[in-house]
Amino acid sequence: MGAFKNAAGKPVLMRMVKGIQDNKAYLGEVDGLIGDGDHGMNMNKGFSVFEERFKDEDISFSEGLDELGMILLNEIGGSMGPIYGTIFMDMAEAGEDLDEITAADLGTMLEA
Ligand SMILES: [Mg+2]
Repeated sequence: MGAFKNAAGKPVLMRMVKGIQDNKAYLGEVDGLIGDGDHGMNMNKGFSVFEERFKDEDISFSEGLDELGMILLNEIGGSMGPIYGTIFMDMAEAGEDLDEITAADLGTMLEA
């Protein structure tokens, strides 16, 4: 089972950013079936702010999750900001003391 160092986890964060950016239209399309269709746009906005702000910063995986969560919570409107913001901030708290993060740890962080 794979693992990565928390301190060297920034590429994972940046891959998350790319995942949202690449799927912005799809997220909006799915949201549009039952909602106002802005989910992809809002997610992309928040994740891209994070990318811009931290692309040149040395941050760990858990620190990055916390920063991403705060950006979503404080800077992105609608219901997704507080919901996803809280998810990432709670994930960060659950993983902040981990030196190495395994798939099982990631599961524990998600459960938090
Ligand atoms: Mg919406």
